[in-house]
Amino acid sequence: MPVLRVPYTDPLPLPRIIPPSAKSTDGAIAALLEFLAPSLPRPSVPQSSISSKLATCAKGAEHHGKTLLLTGAGISVASGLADYRGANGTYTLNKTYRPIYFNEFCENHEARKRYWARSFLGWTTLDRARPNKAHRACGELGRLGVVGHVITQNVDSFHPAAHSHLPTTELHGYLRSLVCLTCRNEYPRRSFQEHLARLNPTWAAFLEEMLASGALDTENPDERRKKGLKANPDGDVHVPDAPYTTFRYPACPVCLATPPPKPGGGVLKMHADADGAWDTSSEGGVLKPAVIMFGESIPAATKVAAEEAVDDARRILVVGSSLATYSAWRLVKRAKERQMPIGILNMGGARGEESFFADVQEGNTGREALRISENAEQVLPEIVRLLRERKRS
Ligand SMILES: [Zn+2]
Repeated sequence: MPVLRVPYTDPLPLPRIIPPSAKSTDGAIAALLEFLAPSLPRPSVPQSSISSKLATCAKGAEHHGKTLLLTGAGISVASGLADYRGANGTYTLNKTYRPIYFNEFCENHEARKRYWARSFLGWTTLDRARPNKAHRACGELGRLGVVGHVITQNVDSFHPAAHSHLPTTELHGYLRSLVCLTCRNEYPRRSFQEHLARLNPTWAAFLEEMLASGALDTENPDERRKKGLKANPDGDVHVPDAPYTTFRYPACPVCLATPPPKPGGGVLKMHADADGAWDTSSEGGVLKPAVIMFGESIPAATKVAAEEAVDDARRILVVGSSLATYSAWRLVKRAKERQMPIGILNMGGARGEESFFADVQEGNTGREALRISENAEQVLPEIVRLLRERKRS
């Protein structure tokens, strides 16, 4: 069954901290160490001839002991990107914020103009942002043999950038590329941005002006307004003399050069203006960011890769996610059904978390269940430091 990406914006209750000793930061770090301890590789012992024959099996067993990380927007906040739901998140600050839905993007040229105009202004913030200490700590946990895989809901590509040695499944795709809805070719977002600038010179000049004013350094609409970024009541930026209805975006160059075949015979009509902007008379060649939009199904291969990562792990640790999207929540539910210990490190509540912790045993130190409300950027590097110390001794 396909899994749709849908937003979930109801308020969430504050978490019950587990174990209760984890209410302080020191207590939370101690409990998280307890949670991860069973994933620490055992010191190697001299192998007998029988055990060396079983080396292949042992490799598998080692892999099965690892912790799976499932990360969300909270881990990228320290990189300067907004958490949708957090204290300064998009949903809380900008009440008019409404994400575009997949069908709308595919079917509606006006919706695409609006999307690309917003994206044109927003891209620079993402392009300049870098992975932070928490992403790097995830990579170090991989090097220590504690973590074997990362699943992220984030589309900023910070995980693959920070730890290419540790596999990452990007559950909701990635903004670094565009994909053609017709031929499925992918293109880098950065050169697309340059093309958007050439197609929309008034917007490009406005972007330069706003970057210089610092208006794009914040997601807070009030602060933006003070710095000269005017928005209409729908949250669309008002660019003098250039309404977004005149915004132009490029067509897929491959579809333009070689129009793809039509299902019923012949080829798709493809038209662009002299600058390469997509023309409404075209029957294909629409470029979409390579993210899974709301209302879009996660590709089967991604869904399977994420499920396999859950099945291959011994325990799961959620970092910086309120599990607001069903696609992420169901992975934790799957882990629970497989009786894996579940840990959540997230500031504020997580969707349906009571059901994950209903059966916590008295005397749990964090090893069998963990729920802490701390800053990942502080806690994870400290965990890496302590685990390294433990490994040395
Ligand atoms: Zn194409």
